[in-house]
Amino acid sequence: MKVIIVGAGVIGITTAYYLEAEGHEVTVVERQDRAGMETSFANAGQLCRYTARPWAGPSVPAMIFREMGRASAPYLVRLRFDPQMWRWLVSFLAQCRTSKYQKTRSNLLRIAIHSSNLMDDLIARENIDFDHCRYGVLHLFQDQKSLDYASEDERRFANADIRGETLDYASCVAIEPALNQCQTSFAGGILHQHEQTGDAHQFTAKLARILAGRGVSFEYGVEAQKFITEGESVSSLITNGGTIKADAIVIGAATNSAKLLSPMCPNLPIYPVKGYSITIPTGGYNGAPKIGIHDSSRKIGFSRLGDRLRAAGTAEFGAPNTQPSQSRIEALRDRARTIFPGAGNFEAAQTWAGLRPMTPDGAPVLGQTKWKNLFVNTGHGSLGWSLACGSGHILADLLAGRAPRIDLSGLTVDRFF
Ligand SMILES: Cc1cc2nc3c(=O)[nH]c(=O)nc-3n(C[C@H](O)[C@H](O)[C@H](O)COP(=O)(O)OP(=O)(O)OC[C@H]3O[C@@H](n4cnc5c(N)ncnc54)[C@H](O)[C@@H]3O)c2cc1C
Repeated sequence: MKVIIVGAGVIGITTAYYLEAEGHEVTVVERQDRAGMETSFANAGQLCRYTARPWAGPSVPAMIFREMGRASAPYLVRLRFDPQMWRWLVSFLAQCRTSKYQKTRSNLLRIAIHSSNLMDDLIARENIDFDHCRYGVLHLFQDQKSLDYASEDERRFANADIRGETLDYASCVAIEPALNQCQTSFAGGILHQHEQTGDAHQFTAKLARILAGRGVSFEYGVEAQKFITEGESVSSLITNGGTIKADAIVIGAATNSAKLLSPMCPNLPIYPVKGYSITIPTGGYNGAPKIGIHDSSRKIGFSRLGDRLRAAGTAEFGAPNTQPSQSRIEALRDRARTIFPGAGNFEAAQTWAGLRPMTPDGAPVLGQTKWKNLFVNTGHGSLGWSLACGSGHILADLLAGRAPRIDLSGLTVDRFF
C-alpha cells in the first residue's frame, strides 16, 4: 500500500518505522527541513512506562487559580480573547473529576506499557544512540500533603509491580547524591525504577535516517494543505509542492492536525499548550543528577542526556506560538539552579519552547476517521515521547485491518463525536 504520513516528529517517524516494516511504500511529508524539529525537539526526555498520567486531575483546578499570573506557575493561563482556548479549558476542567482522571489514567497506562515494551524491542534491534538511561525517575514533592496524596494514588494500582516506592527525603538523597546541594526542601519522593530517559530529538532524527536508508521517502520543506476525496475515501494529498496520490494517509501533525483535518473531521479538540526547556552543559561539573527527576510541585522534569542536563516542563495556555517568554525561561533556570546548583553552566544553557498537542483528557487521538483510509495519530500532549512506539504500532495494525494488541477504549478519534 502507498501510505503518506504527514509530520516527521517522533510520532510520524515511529509510525513510518512500523509501516515500513510491514512492506508499505511510505512517504513522509514534513514542512521543516529535517525530522524532529518541532515539539519533539527538546522535551523533558522522560519515557513514562508506569507514570503516564493525565494532567487533568482533582488537584489541578485549585493549582491553576492559586498560581494565576505568576511567572513560575506550573500552569499559567494568559487571559486573552481566544474562544478556542476557553472552550478547551472548560472541557479540560470537566476532565479533572476523580472518576474521569482514573479512567484516563488507566487508558494511558495501557498504551504506555505497550509503547515501552515496543521501545525496548526497537532499541535492541536498531542500536540507536540517543543518550538513553535506564536509572528510573524520582518524583519529588515539596510538602507532605502532596506526597501523601501521590502515594495514595500509587496504592490504587492493583498490581504492586507498577507502584512507585515512597521514600523520605534522606533516602531520596541517598539514591541521587546530586540532591545534597539542593537549596530547597522536599518532604520526600516516589521512586519509579522502571522509567527511562533519553533525547527524543536524537532518536527521531536517527530513526528517520535509518528509514531513509530502507527506502522511506522524505519530502522535507513540503506543507500538506488539503485532501482530495473520492466517495468515502481520500485519494490524494495536496501540498505546496504538488499533489501526491495515496492508498492511505496518516496525520501526525501535532498541534496543526486539527486545522489540517478541519474540513474532513471538524472540531478536533487539540490545543497548543506551551512548555519550556533549558539544556545545561554539564562538562567539568559534577552536580548533575544521573537519575531522572520530576519536581512535582513545579511540573518540571530533569533528564541527564550525556553531558547535558535537560530541565523542561510547565504549561502555558493562551500563548500559541513557540516564542519563549524570558520570564518563564528565567523561572525555569532559577528552579533548576536551586535544586542542582552544581549541575553545569546555567548561563550557557540552550533555551527552547514547544507546543504540546493537548486533548482535554490528555490521551492521544488514534485510528481511522470517518473517511475509510484517513487515519490520525496525534494529540499526544505531554506524553508523545513515551507513547510514540505504541501509537505507531497501533496505526500499523489498524492499516493492516488487524486488531491492535491493546484495547483502544478512550484513545480513538470517535470519543469526540
Ligand atoms: C516542554 C515539554 C516537555 C515534554 N516532556 C515530555 C516527556 O518528558 N515525555 C514525553 O513523553 N513527552 C513529553 N513532551 C511531549 C512530547 O514532546 C510531544 O507529545 C511529542 O513531541 C509530539 O510529537 P509529534 O510528532 O506529535 O509532534 P512534532 O514533533 O511537533 O511533530 C509534528 C510534525 O508535523 C509537522 N507538520 C505540522 N503540520 C504540517 C503540515 N501541514 N505539513 C507538513 N508537516 C507538518 C511539523 O513540522 C512537525 O515536525 C513534552 C513536551 C514539551 C513541550
